Amino acid sequence: MLTIHTDTKIHKMSKDNAPVATAKSGDMVRFETLDCFGCQLSSEEQHLGGLDWNNINPATGPLFVEGAEPGDVLKVEILSIELDDHGVMVDGPGEGVTGAAVTEESTKILPVKDGMVTFNEKLSFPICPMIGVIGTAPAGEAVDTGTPGAHGGNMDCTRIGAGATLYLPVNVEGALLAMGDLHALMGDGEVEVCGVEIAGAVTVRVTALKQCALPTPFLVNDDTFMSIFSALTVDEACVGATMSMHGFLMKELGLNEHEAGMLLSVVGNLRICQIVDPEKTCRMELPKSIAETYGYEFA
Ligand code: CA
Ligand code: CA
Repeated sequence: MLTIHTDTKIHKMSKDNAPVATAKSGDMVRFETLDCFGCQLSSEEQHLGGLDWNNINPATGPLFVEGAEPGDVLKVEILSIELDDHGVMVDGPGEGVTGAAVTEESTKILPVKDGMVTFNEKLSFPICPMIGVIGTAPAGEAVDTGTPGAHGGNMDCTRIGAGATLYLPVNVEGALLAMGDLHALMGDGEVEVCGVEIAGAVTVRVTALKQCALPTPFLVNDDTFMSIFSALTVDEACVGATMSMHGFLMKELGLNEHEAGMLLSVVGNLRICQIVDPEKTCRMELPKSIAETYGYEFA
């Protein structure tokens, strides 16, 4: 299987990035990834302020997918996520929401073993591996890998884990897929500014879909499908995710505007992905059984 190593990484999602590898549509590819700090923190004595900020939020890639052309949708099946044996968290004054309550920087190294992450001497939790940064190159200006948007990017959506299928827009030839910023565990919101940040590897299958009408970014897993939307404010991101799904229900399932809105209000769960990045990200989740009832099959 094609493997892309961490020595080929980017800090901007850009149409000008030279592809580091090429896959055929339908191929499996393994992306090895650094943590969001570029693996610069190896002890609790090292803090946020000592980081080289040019090495923050590295995304491994980009991958050129043969046959992916602007206007297509790139289907990314997340087959597996492997994690390192420890994660790291940091905080600092003004960072995230809770940074308002701290006066100095701190760092925590969290052991990850046998499917559990140790938070402290009292608390351990089952891991729930997810991909924080995953996206294609935007058509226009480059976007920093720390920022989410219509191309994907730093969405920090807890649902982007193994078994899920993510649909991303193809804005440039080859799509130029890149990813990084794995978390062993993260709560919706990422309120303190990071999850359990960890290095690892992601195995995906990439497929270029022609004439696919899904709004992107869009995610499907075992029992749920969801629209993901990023905007400058949480309010705008909530509206974007909701209306994106409303449009999908009308266009693809054939519901009228009243029925679609009422359905979202009855069984749609509007959730926050993260509120700590330069743009905020929300998602609208619906039970997959609804699509099945209407005879809709995800490509
Ligand atoms: Ca992130
Ligand atoms: Ca992160």
